Amino acid sequence: MQENPTGADIRQSFIDFFAERGHTFVPSSSLVPGGDSTLLFTNAGMVQFKDVFLGTDLRPYTRAVNSQKCLRVSGKHNDLEQVGRDDTHHTFFEMLGNWSFGDYYKKEAIGWAWELITEVWKLPKDKLWATYFKDELNEIPEDREAADIWLAQPGFNPDHLVPFGRKENFWEMAETGPCGPDTEIHIDRGPEFCELCDDPDHVCQVNGDCGRFLEFWNNVFIQYNRLSPTELVPLEKTHVDTGMGFERIVSILQDTPSNYKTDLFMPLIIRIQKLAGQSNAEREANLTPYRVIADHARATTFLIADGVVPGNIGRNYICRMLIRRAARFGMKLGLHDPFMAEVSQVVIDEYGNFFPELKRNATAILDNLTREEKRFAKTVHAGLEHLDELLSEIKTSGQTVLAGEKAFDLYATLGLPLEITRDIAQEQGLEVDSAGYEQAMEAHRLISGAGKEFGGLNGDDVESYAALMEALHTSGKLPRSGVRYDPYQPVAEPMEVLALISNGEPVDEVKPGDTVDVLLPQTGFYVEAGGQVSDTGQIVSAKGDGWAIKVTGMRKPVAGIILHTGEVVHGTPKVGDRAVAQVDQARRVQIMRNHTATHLLHAALQDVLGRHARQAGSLVAPDHLRFDFNHPEPMSRTELLAVEAQVNQAILANYQLRIAQKPLDQAINEGATALFGEKYEGIVRTISIGDDQPLSYELCGGTHVEETSDIGLFLITYEGSIAAGIRRIEAVTGWQAYQLARARMNTLEEVNARLGTASAETVIKVENLLQTLGGVEKENQKLRKQLVGSAFDENLENIEQIAGIPVLKAVLPNATMDTLREMADKFRQKNPSGVAVLATVQDGKPILIAAITEDLVKRGLHAGKLVQKVAGVVGGGGGGRPTLAQAGGKDASKLAEALDQVHAYLHGTLD
Ligand SMILES: [Zn+2]
Ligand SMILES: [Zn+2]
Repeated sequence: MQENPTGADIRQSFIDFFAERGHTFVPSSSLVPGGDSTLLFTNAGMVQFKDVFLGTDLRPYTRAVNSQKCLRVSGKHNDLEQVGRDDTHHTFFEMLGNWSFGDYYKKEAIGWAWELITEVWKLPKDKLWATYFKDELNEIPEDREAADIWLAQPGFNPDHLVPFGRKENFWEMAETGPCGPDTEIHIDRGPEFCELCDDPDHVCQVNGDCGRFLEFWNNVFIQYNRLSPTELVPLEKTHVDTGMGFERIVSILQDTPSNYKTDLFMPLIIRIQKLAGQSNAEREANLTPYRVIADHARATTFLIADGVVPGNIGRNYICRMLIRRAARFGMKLGLHDPFMAEVSQVVIDEYGNFFPELKRNATAILDNLTREEKRFAKTVHAGLEHLDELLSEIKTSGQTVLAGEKAFDLYATLGLPLEITRDIAQEQGLEVDSAGYEQAMEAHRLISGAGKEFGGLNGDDVESYAALMEALHTSGKLPRSGVRYDPYQPVAEPMEVLALISNGEPVDEVKPGDTVDVLLPQTGFYVEAGGQVSDTGQIVSAKGDGWAIKVTGMRKPVAGIILHTGEVVHGTPKVGDRAVAQVDQARRVQIMRNHTATHLLHAALQDVLGRHARQAGSLVAPDHLRFDFNHPEPMSRTELLAVEAQVNQAILANYQLRIAQKPLDQAINEGATALFGEKYEGIVRTISIGDDQPLSYELCGGTHVEETSDIGLFLITYEGSIAAGIRRIEAVTGWQAYQLARARMNTLEEVNARLGTASAETVIKVENLLQTLGGVEKENQKLRKQLVGSAFDENLENIEQIAGIPVLKAVLPNATMDTLREMADKFRQKNPSGVAVLATVQDGKPILIAAITEDLVKRGLHAGKLVQKVAGVVGGGGGGRPTLAQAGGKDASKLAEALDQVHAYLHGTLD
């Protein structure tokens, strides 16, 4: 790499390095996670690969390299309040990663990491440190493999390898699921980076509390599947998942004291400085506003590019809050007119080559920023004044906390987000009751009628959709009941495009590349409900003049309005055009297979486990299904296989599905299963499967196959716990099930080829191998014991006389506590009167045993006291009976010195 590399050079050199080693470059996925409704924003590089690790997604590559856009503003990793106040925290950041999906493992991962940082990036080897996993509870095996690979790296200082326990070096995706040890790379930036060196008790160290040692790369080795807090099983395929904070490595390679001083931020900061008309000295005196604005400008530019525009709820609220927070910090620099678009333009210029979505959506980004700043400007002064009054009142009355209800009022009426209220309160040493804020918001949502159902994460402006609905009804284009919704019989005829909505506003036409919401008088696209995901597909011009919109999702902002969300592929769609909407049928068929299989699974679980195994949640997606149910304990393998077999029997029986509409009362009386927490009214839709005595009978609005054999094959891929008393099953059907079975068979065939055996004999052959291996291990142990024995015999000749007593002190190589005990017995058999103290080193730590014959115990000697005195020197302790006691210690290098204590003890006790 060239001298003085730019951030873009560094990112590219990372990608090139791994691409040259067979990795496929995978573009960053959106900040809005696809298919994971539990996550507000993509917050780590592995989000888009999660399903690959879980085995439910297959990719055409086994090695990947990427730089992932990430955002952390809420939830567990919430650094918002830190952002701007120090040199390293950001809301938006990039994560560089290289990935192995069942391909290479620790040797290559560590070797390449070392090669990249020392050969390509030329980081000084003597400043680099590595950590590896050693379980403090001694339950999970130590990662000796990683440690040994580190020690073999050319020029790696063996003293720079340090073990850490679970918190630092064991990675888990969740309470259950894939997990494994990791190894972190740290750099020693030198004593000048330590801000605690005045403290005499402070020690600069890896994972310490000062800024001197900086972790910049974590390599995770996924090798286990966690089934419960105490149960780990090895994974069939092991994976590598690495993450390097991009801003951090750029700061290291550009040798800047702060991430904000790198060329990733400086162009933004200089633009802010020009806008504010400040000198360099003024800028350095006001760093916090500069950092906040630069950080939030990056975050909001990328958010809007990914379709998240400012709004009231969920993701859209975050976008709004970040723009307003940046605007408020701008006021501290004297910036009162909208300025964010100016800063954002620098972000687009600096990052647009690598992230083309920024250039593609530049107009939308800049417009949205300015529009939101103008909206905020209307009320911000009144809001800040009112907040000031409230805070003064609190101080006068001697309180310290602003009521959540008041904070919510400030947002609802004057547009001041909670986060800004909190910033200002904190600047005056006060707090805000966040829980009270949430309660007030919830109460408001219920009163205003904007039910949760429509709020979701979309943050739509409910009033303007209601107005649109009213206008279309008045002009006779939509009935009072709104869009006709029938996902069971897709519409083939052309329909009129009633409205196009872009960036939250109705528009007359849209251009290629625009994201758009399309409103049609009726739709056959399924809208996410009851766990089944929305349909995708396309809307094309009926005139054949070639416009097309790719539909990626569906939503229902208010009752009666159903929108197809997507992107214009080509042409210029206009309001009033006639169009045909086509559901992606292949995807829909796979969803239908999974939905019907979900009903069969529910029935089989109740049959095998009992009636208590009721549904507690589900996800029906095209590539897999997920089913949560009540059950107090893990399912046994027999139970799982029985459930799987029952579902497949029902598939082979080829039952016709009977779908009917009937009054709710009648359905319930007939025994149909209603799902807890779902709302049913009037006429309901029922699905029954089976003969006259149906196997499964449920209330359900989802789409289903016509007969069960359409499902093809059903395979369970996972069973685990998600909460107390609730289990989760994941499964695949149809083509995915075939692919999974094929992949497993490939593995088995490969194993057989290596073992040189036929399928029927694999298990026998593996058992034989394990047995042989066990025999070799036993033999090995025996030999080791013999070696210790002969070392001991040599020592028996070195018995000294101390205070007239025969004494044996010896350090035996490669022994265990058991062998030490045997040797101690042997000593006592050969010496009717005497003292023996034997030691060895196990896993780098000393262990000791002391034996004293009965006659000497009568003279006042005590093995427990003796061993304690000796172990004290090696930093440990122990105890036991007067005749036999054992101890452990920490420092093996002091063993010889420790054994000298025997002399002092004997003289001290007997003389
Ligand atoms: Zn320090
Ligand atoms: Zn259903």
